[in-house]
Parts: sequence; C-alpha cells; structure tokens
Amino acid sequence: MEPLYVTRPQLPLLEDLRPMLEDIWSSRVLTNGGKYHQRFEAALATHLGVQHVSLFANATIALVTALQALRITGEVITTPYSFVATAHSLLWNGIRPIFVDIDEESLNIDPAKIEAAITPQTTAILAVHCYGRPCNVEAIQKIADTYGLKLIYDAAHAFGVQDSGGSLLRHGDLSIVSFHATKVMNTFEGGAIICPDRRSKERIDHLKNFGFVDEVTVVAPGINGKMNELQSAIGVLQLAGIGDAISARQRVSLRYQEQLSAVAGLKLLENDPAIESNYAYFPVLVERDFWCGRDELYEHLKRFNIFARRYFYPLITAFPMYRGLPSSGSANLPVATRKADQVLCLPLYPELSISDQDRVIAAVKGGRV
Ligand SMILES: *Cc1c(COP(=O)(O)O)cnc(C)c1O
Repeated sequence: MEPLYVTRPQLPLLEDLRPMLEDIWSSRVLTNGGKYHQRFEAALATHLGVQHVSLFANATIALVTALQALRITGEVITTPYSFVATAHSLLWNGIRPIFVDIDEESLNIDPAKIEAAITPQTTAILAVHCYGRPCNVEAIQKIADTYGLKLIYDAAHAFGVQDSGGSLLRHGDLSIVSFHATKVMNTFEGGAIICPDRRSKERIDHLKNFGFVDEVTVVAPGINGKMNELQSAIGVLQLAGIGDAISARQRVSLRYQEQLSAVAGLKLLENDPAIESNYAYFPVLVERDFWCGRDELYEHLKRFNIFARRYFYPLITAFPMYRGLPSSGSANLPVATRKADQVLCLPLYPELSISDQDRVIAAVKGGRV
C-alpha cells in the first residue's frame, strides 16, 4: 500500500511554469526584487487583503528579521507548543524566551497566564496561531497595550485565515507566514512578513538585503533573507490555485470530523463558525478512554504505512537549549505538557483520496486496513 504522509505538497503545472522560467532565463534577473518578486508580493497583498507584504527566503529568517525590525531585546513571552523555529528566532537575537502555558481548547498561548510572566525586561509577546487557529487576539493586544509590549504573531500556519474583520494577519505589530513545502501555501521554501504600514515594510526590506538602502548606504547589520525569482514565480502560480487547494482540504477535514467525532476517547478541536479556516492540519487528542495510547496509535498507523506526526511533541522547552530556563519546567506548563502527550496530526492534503482517507479513519478506529 502506498505510504500516506501527514502532508503532500501542492505543485503548479510544469507547463505553466515553463514560460516564466524562459522569461527569467532570458532576462537574467534571478533575485533582488525582480519582476516575479514584485508580482508575487503585490498579488499576495491583494489575496490576503493586507496593506504591505515583504517576501523572505523562509519564515525563520523572517521571524529573526521581524524581531530586529521592532528592535526587541531582553525577554519575550512565547509558547512552548510550536515548531522550534518560533523560539530559535529569539535566541538568534540574544533574547531570553519566557514560556507561558497554552489554553486547553485553542492550544494557543493562554492570555490569562501572560501577565504573571511580565517583568521589567519584557519587551514583546511572540504568539503562534497554532494549526492556523486564531489566538485570542483581542485579549493579547489588550495586555500588550497595557504594558507597552510589541506583539508579533508567528502565523506560519495561518495563510488565508479570516476572522469576522478580515485577514487574521492584520493583528499585532507584525505577522509572519511560511511558504515551506509542508505548509498550506508553498514556494518550496519561503516566507513573508505582513506589515501594517509603508515605513515598517521599508525597514524590513532593507534588513533582508544586508541593510542596503541604496548602492552606497548601509543602515543596519541586515541579513540576506531575500526570496529569489524562481520561488516568486512558483508563488504566483501557487496563489492562483490556493482557493481550490483550501476547498479540497476542507472536504478532507469535514470527512474526518464526521467519521471521528464520535470515537470514544478521541477529542477533536472545536471549530469557530466565525472563522474562515485554511484547514491546515487535522490534530486529534488521544485521551484516556481511547482504545490505545497516543504513541501506540502513532506506531499502529505506521504499520499500515500511514505516517501521522506528533505536532507538537516534544515541546520546545524539552530541547537542550531551552530546558534549563526557569519557565521551561513542566509545572509551569501543565496544559502544554499534557497536550503534547496526546496530540497526533493525521494526513491532510488536497489530493488525499476518499479511499486513502478511509484507510486512515479505519486504522485510527483500531481496524485493519
Ligand atoms: C514552519 C514553521 C516555521 C518555520 O518556517 P520556515 O519557512 O520553514 O522557516 C516557524 N514557525 C512555525 C510555527 C512553523 O510551523
């Protein structure tokens, strides 16, 4: 039986890419804000309904740059329940992460626990819209305003998610999306910062190009974070197909919900009807009365060539560079610790066929497939 992975990246049609490649080959403009970079940036802003976008080679460099753009130092409050790049972006800036526990239902940082973690050194909050499901943006913004903190969203999972007021990416001071191969929208590797105003976009554009403002002026110790023309051309094509891809994800997601919601001991995450989701992931939580434990389920699926993933286990705080921090102890993070031991993300991608999905469903229920 064909192996089923947690995701299978979408690709544009090769024949659609070919004329763009010919164009790039003949122009010899390969990077540094060429035609496809400009086209993709503009198309993204329109598609997402945001003012300003700055493209990056990947989301990790974008996160590192976002923290620099806002001149964040000292301590930053963040979540342990995320991909490790969230916290790594702080260490790359010499910032100390302060981990705060997550909310039981959303699995996002718990606003009720943020205030107690603020110290005179705290300068910002780095929150994550985990699985593309919105943080409590109002509550977090209120805390940021009260204490004069910057607010950055790692929105790596949240491409295209809308709340009742529009794009989820408009919240906070800056939001970062990822176009890594495994994400809802991919440019093989890639990322972007969503900026609220032209000035912050300009500063970010300088920072991602070594700090160059013009040929002879360097205003900051910037990095090389630029997206190239090949990635940008792929982005233009992927964006044209993203609506269909998200609809296909929605179909898969709804079928899982129908088939798995009544399974004893399996908890699915609630969907807020006010949110237009991107159906990025399908996490399930294996509770005590399920027919087996989470790791047993993970191994059971593997025997049927189904490769689910334990996002996010281990917690970021379990890795050696974070383990010794005072906020990393499991007593400080009881909810995140428990959820990391329960979660499993099932295969979810636009091309997952009904018969393959039914293999997954049957195996989750404990059957042979
Ligand atoms: C994927 C991911 C990143 C890193 O994105 P890259 O584009 O691979 O650098 C950062 N944060 C989260 C939450 C992610 O899932």
